[in-house]
Amino acid sequence: MYKQTIASLSDGLHQGTFSSVELTRQCLERINRYNAQLNCFITVTEELALADAREADRRLQSGEAAPMTGIPIAHKDIFCTDGVKTSCASRMLDNFIAPYDATVVASFKNAGAVMLGKTNMDEFAMGSSNETSFYGAVGNPWDSTKVPGGSSGGSAAAVAARLALGATGTDTGGSIRQPAALCGLTGLKPTYGRVSRYGMIAFASSLDQGGPLTYTAEDAALMLNVMAGFDEKDSTSIDQAVPDYCAGLNQCIDGLKIGVPKEFFGEGLDSVVGDRVEQAIQQFEKMGATIVEVSLPNSMLSVPAYYVVAPAECSSNLSRFDGVRYGYRCEEPVDLMDLYKRSRGEGFGAEVKRRIMIGTYALSAGYYDAYYLKAQKLRQLISDDFRRAFAGVDVIIGPTTPTTAFPVGDKLDDPIQMYLSDIYTIAANLAGLPAISIPCGFSDGLPVGMQIIGAYFKEEQLLNIAHQYQQETDWHKQMPEGFS
Ligand code: GLN
Repeated sequence: MYKQTIASLSDGLHQGTFSSVELTRQCLERINRYNAQLNCFITVTEELALADAREADRRLQSGEAAPMTGIPIAHKDIFCTDGVKTSCASRMLDNFIAPYDATVVASFKNAGAVMLGKTNMDEFAMGSSNETSFYGAVGNPWDSTKVPGGSSGGSAAAVAARLALGATGTDTGGSIRQPAALCGLTGLKPTYGRVSRYGMIAFASSLDQGGPLTYTAEDAALMLNVMAGFDEKDSTSIDQAVPDYCAGLNQCIDGLKIGVPKEFFGEGLDSVVGDRVEQAIQQFEKMGATIVEVSLPNSMLSVPAYYVVAPAECSSNLSRFDGVRYGYRCEEPVDLMDLYKRSRGEGFGAEVKRRIMIGTYALSAGYYDAYYLKAQKLRQLISDDFRRAFAGVDVIIGPTTPTTAFPVGDKLDDPIQMYLSDIYTIAANLAGLPAISIPCGFSDGLPVGMQIIGAYFKEEQLLNIAHQYQQETDWHKQMPEGFS
């Protein structure tokens, strides 16, 4: 069963071919068998999962079921889950039991999905390799000596190894698309404001967006149907009708105009990755699309702009972790200052501290104009580049990442190299645009991902294009050895 997609398992559940309890047990057995090796789950909620599954079976039998009813999924440990530990992979929240559900979590509960547990991630979603977690690194199912990508690396590894049928992730600068690319999955970052951020622990609030990691675009559409929508509890949520993303999946792409940005194929791009993406573009041409060269001249400055904006926002967001209200508190503080200093000093890891320091510096009175304001101007220029490009094309296609999965430990001591692994993904976050990564080949046995960026609220179109490509290719059907 675990080799099937959510779409086909949903049919099986509705037809009564098997039950949600059977399906959930199979996932739990696989988690028991493989989690020690992959370290992709921080918390496994076995009893809750079986209770969810029993309730799903009741709904399926009584005819009250929705497409996601009875489907076992996992949530990135950044989403608050009522009564269940929500750690953000930080020592700071190692003892935190969330008192409420994030809207995304509640939506999946209402749809009758089964929660298997909470997945590992980079601490507070800061990273591209899943090596900054307080709970240790996550293995890439395709090659355990390689990283799965980050920060939603636990979600990606869990789905790629078929321990969960789909998982939620969050993407501030690439954290859904980059691990999807490195683990051979479909990963969608929706338009900023499309998915509620309520109860999704904030990293950089103007960039963070939740989305699904799945095997196929069709499965991503099924999950997005549950996740998308207006939420009055999130002040940046957008009140716009949600289409049925599954209903839009069979549109012919004849006449589609695809923009290929020359800046995405320059220095720094691994040649095999570049070749695979070019072959995918040719495939789209065969399917009737027209290819147009476009230019995003400021996109190569997205990494420096992001590494001012994101740390600035994180330094403010993470000031709430002070050892007073919740989370980690140091032993026997001598006074209030000592409590703050040691609780934060001991509770946060090195990368989080680095970001807080950069952000505090960039926002300080003397440097605000030089760094923060400049980065905001750059952000506007990057958005303008996309606006100009989308005047002439429907979507933009390029690589998701410059290389395939890199070796564990390779970039840990070199933050700039680590930051550059998001060079192609960050611009979409700065502009707030939707983007999807789908598998488009292999290099030395490791998956290669291609990214499709759309105009605002064009998730339906992105999913359709990805689905059309997946009808013609079988890269997304490949499974890592050792997990079958
Ligand atoms: N890798 C980027 C960072 O470290 C993006 C992380 C993310 O999207 N959450 O900030």
